[in-house]
Amino acid sequence: MDTFNQIEEETELSKSKKVSCSGVGGSLGHPKIYLDMGEKNEIRCPYCSKLFILETN
Ligand SMILES: [Zn+2]
Repeated sequence: MDTFNQIEEETELSKSKKVSCSGVGGSLGHPKIYLDMGEKNEIRCPYCSKLFILETN
């Protein structure tokens, strides 16, 4: 077991609509994938449910 605090749903601010995710480590890790927010300002990783939010300012 690691000592990091794990929250149920991670969120990450991104300055770009294109983000990459490889999971949050440990058993929740997954192969690196690239996500595109498209018309929206946020996207959720289908693997680990991490939410990426576009930083607008
Ligand atoms: Zn992910």
